[in-house]
Amino acid sequence: MLHLEPEGYVKLAQDPLYGRYFVANQDIKAGQKILVSTPIASIVDHASKHIVCSKCLTSNSPPNNFKCQECDYSYCSKECMEMDKADHTLECSFKLSGNFPDQGYVSDYFDLLKRILIKATKFPSDPDVQIVYSAVDNFSSFSNEKTKEFYNVALQLEQFCQSIGYKMPDFPTKEFNRIQSRYSVELSPLTASLVSLIAKEECNSFGLYYSTTNKEPRKGYGLAFFPTAIFFNHSCDPNVSYYKSNNQYEFFTVVPVKKGESLYISYLDFSTNTQERKQILKQVFHFDCGCRVCNGAEFQQSKWLCDECKGFMKPEVEQWICTSCKKLN
Ligand SMILES: [Zn+2]
Ligand SMILES: [Zn+2]
Ligand SMILES: [Zn+2]
Ligand SMILES: [Zn+2]
Repeated sequence: MLHLEPEGYVKLAQDPLYGRYFVANQDIKAGQKILVSTPIASIVDHASKHIVCSKCLTSNSPPNNFKCQECDYSYCSKECMEMDKADHTLECSFKLSGNFPDQGYVSDYFDLLKRILIKATKFPSDPDVQIVYSAVDNFSSFSNEKTKEFYNVALQLEQFCQSIGYKMPDFPTKEFNRIQSRYSVELSPLTASLVSLIAKEECNSFGLYYSTTNKEPRKGYGLAFFPTAIFFNHSCDPNVSYYKSNNQYEFFTVVPVKKGESLYISYLDFSTNTQERKQILKQVFHFDCGCRVCNGAEFQQSKWLCDECKGFMKPEVEQWICTSCKKLN
């Protein structure tokens, strides 16, 4: 069962084509916290490892106090390092090899998948693990180049799975055939299920962003998979936004929402250029946006973004504050 807190503001609805998605379970006022989500796994990207703690994701100050002796993972404190030790020992020696850029995006998502697989090995029946398995993979929408990449990454993950004693879940023949049909080489069931898992990660994980204190664009620092958050569909004019609070993400409404309405977050930074948004959504998130504004409607008056710096706004008691420039609204 899903734990949808607080107080039943959201519930799941089902669409035959697009799967499960969140709708409002009651009328909700703007600024209401509707869901708290903890990632099943998260990683800090290569460029940020030395400044963000790989366990709790807070920026280190001062940086590099606690660093793994064998790799570039670093931690803000002895506690975080100790807490991460059991899992990190499993992943540390297992780096992506082959024809992939050493510090690139592929090795970042490889690292995230290792963490998901460790969780799935330790807690196979955990509800969060089940959500990951049941997520959509949009496999048919990936290019041949991408599916080739997934195959090569899956082969390496397969070795990792063996090293940690991972047991693959039931993977029905129909699912297997769907994946196999894109390849001329014969896949093993485990390879096919890992290819699907990679595609699930690619279309459902979140980029993690710093709050900057100046007016620069947001900076990414990592990737995370939030099991409950995958049920928010995208709109370029969302009615829900989110911010990081410790190691969790809190989701809140940015406009009043009526009972039964779909709940949307934006997978993108704000842009008024419809052409540009559609292109990024297609390339990076693998779907054609059919949201209100992409269909020609006006942007609604929402408190999603700061009108000063386009940083994310967050509700405080009786007012809103920009998480970047701290402007009140
Ligand atoms: Zn930490
Ligand atoms: Zn290490
Ligand atoms: Zn759109
Ligand atoms: Zn701002």
